[in-house]
Amino acid sequence: MMRAVSSSGERSGIELIGVDVGGTKVLGVRVRVRDGSSAPEVLDTVELPSVAHGSEVLDVIVAAVQALADGASGAAGVGLGLAGFVDPSGVVRVAPNAAGLVDLDVALTVAERLGLDCVADNDANCVAVACHAALGPRVTDLVAVTLGTGIGGGIVVGGELVRGRRGWAGEPGHVVVDPDGPRCPCGQRGCWERYASGSALSASIRRAVDSGALDRAEVPTDTASDLLAAASRGVSAAEAVLGDFAAWVALGLAGLVALLDPDVVAVGGGVTAAGDGLLDAVRGQLVLRHGVVVGEDPPELVLAPGGPAAGAIGAAVLAGRRLGLLRVGA
Ligand SMILES: [Zn+2]
Repeated sequence: MMRAVSSSGERSGIELIGVDVGGTKVLGVRVRVRDGSSAPEVLDTVELPSVAHGSEVLDVIVAAVQALADGASGAAGVGLGLAGFVDPSGVVRVAPNAAGLVDLDVALTVAERLGLDCVADNDANCVAVACHAALGPRVTDLVAVTLGTGIGGGIVVGGELVRGRRGWAGEPGHVVVDPDGPRCPCGQRGCWERYASGSALSASIRRAVDSGALDRAEVPTDTASDLLAAASRGVSAAEAVLGDFAAWVALGLAGLVALLDPDVVAVGGGVTAAGDGLLDAVRGQLVLRHGVVVGEDPPELVLAPGGPAAGAIGAAVLAGRRLGLLRVGA
């Protein structure tokens, strides 16, 4: 278990626990949230390796919450961010990239085993909530997308998380961008996440290396960070792969911007470890390819505040809201 603890002299506000349940790791945070619009303060972080999803993952989640609760003066509630389409009761009903989570009542299990009030929502919805809390009241409309194994999304309109009829709103990763494209685990062909997720980028890098277009010595791993480093050195094949990926990301974002006209588009997920360079490339493609509706005056494009912990932070804030401990917008 990796654990980092930061201290704070400020004791006001309430303490909440958030856990982001990912495919490779379970990341938990304990945060303090004050009333009003200040950003959550991270007090404690716990990271555990994930396991094959299924009942075993419940033990990992409980262990993460337990570790954080042990250090708390009294956590007021727990929020869980889960990969998949989460219904209003907090149960994952469809999970193209995390099938083992389907139908597990994770929130109820954590609540019963630890005696803490617990809510669960989609992990990217949690990222959107974290972004909204961090950016403050100046931002009322935002879209968050997470580019990882797949693509997650969360939408805030008028300061409220948009959840939709079944709780499944904000899943742009499964908007079809090419009906003849590759099969997606969701059952469709050519979903956006087949082209613009972190795994799609890794696959593109691999293909470029395998075809001989890109020298493995220039891009030692199939990561956005190594690709951006090579592109910044002027490696033309790396620039081409990056440009193609950025164009696919921009294509999906352009649709969201045309639909919602948000103040901010926040991008999270594994590929953002590469930093602002990726966003610069995406911004360039938005301006270049997406006309007057989107490209002439694109919204602010930012890395999701909180970085890899954004989902866990947002889950904690969401718990505070759902449990009636924080007003919306706090
Ligand atoms: Zn799909």
